[in-house]
Amino acid sequence: MTAPLIDPFARPIDYLRVSVTDRCDFRCVYCMSENMTFLPKKELLTLEELDRMCSTFVRLGVQKLRITGGEPLVRRDIMTFFRSMTRHIEAGDLRELTLTTNGSQLERFADDLFAAGVRRVNISLDTLDEKKFADVTRWGRLPQVMRGIDAAQRAGLRVKINAVALKGFNEEELFSITEWCASRDIDLTWIEVMPMGDIGNEDRIGQYWKLDDLRAQLAERYTITDLPERTGGPARYVRLEETGQKIGFITPLTHNFCESCNRVRLTCTGELFMCLGQEDNADLRSALRNHPASDAPLEEAIREAISRKPKGHDFDYSRQTVDGRVSRHMSHTGG
Ligand code: SAM
Ligand code: SF4
Repeated sequence: MTAPLIDPFARPIDYLRVSVTDRCDFRCVYCMSENMTFLPKKELLTLEELDRMCSTFVRLGVQKLRITGGEPLVRRDIMTFFRSMTRHIEAGDLRELTLTTNGSQLERFADDLFAAGVRRVNISLDTLDEKKFADVTRWGRLPQVMRGIDAAQRAGLRVKINAVALKGFNEEELFSITEWCASRDIDLTWIEVMPMGDIGNEDRIGQYWKLDDLRAQLAERYTITDLPERTGGPARYVRLEETGQKIGFITPLTHNFCESCNRVRLTCTGELFMCLGQEDNADLRSALRNHPASDAPLEEAIREAISRKPKGHDFDYSRQTVDGRVSRHMSHTGG
């Protein structure tokens, strides 16, 4: 039996988020600058390397894989990778294979994803207004994403919308987005904007909208019940009694979730980040590339990295300046 991954604070690590590309067909204002420079191809893990990497984590006890990016569905041949993970689901070693996507390519891929064993998908959508959507994503077009959402639901995928809470941008859509999700039986999670990367345009669209305030606004119209559900991450859930809907709040800036953290993040270049909010990482790509015939050095590098997982992050918005800022972009680490 292989020993499971347990970090120094006795937290079992069974959730791996994998960024499969730093590229994207959108340029969301809080995520990227308009003229992003992307990594040269040779820096990226190949699809075969991604398979080897993820399969090693599964062997070490990872039960949930979330594929993200950048936009995972713009990576060439990415369905080959999804299909290669199906064997771990069929063997009962992987409980869940899922992805976070901007939805632009779902019309094309929803059926294939379902066939590969994906059952749930997180789709990022901050506004239902076409003009505002084009403004916040710069290159995205709302009707294309809407067709993607339709295709996902038709394919049988459970959809959750992730919306970044932006003061003065989607504040006025709080109820319309909530009602739209309820009418389509879609779950909804609000995310606090995080200080990631140099995006060169801060405060141009929207600002930090505290989820406590968002929740208070929701409470003006709905009866809110806290749910005990925890996923090991920064999300907290409530139910709106009038609609029966589940709403999530992701508040990474508050320190209330680190004690149950069960996850690590692999970048598209094979660095393992043990905490989204810290710079410390481990180079797993060398362990993999330098030893094509054996996974033992990779396993050892993973265990060594997990032994360095910190207790928590240092983001802090409580002062005027944004402290605890992390220099890399969300599209690099994978949101
Ligand atoms: N392209 C895919 C998408 O947009 O869903 C996956 C990658 S994206 C980096 C993952 C999530 O991170 C998205 O929901 C996005 O809204 C969120 N995100 C990006 N930059 C963020 C930031 N600075 N603060 C909070 N959330 C952010
Ligand atoms: Fe692309 Fe997702 Fe970042 Fe938007 S949030 S630019 S869709 S990676």
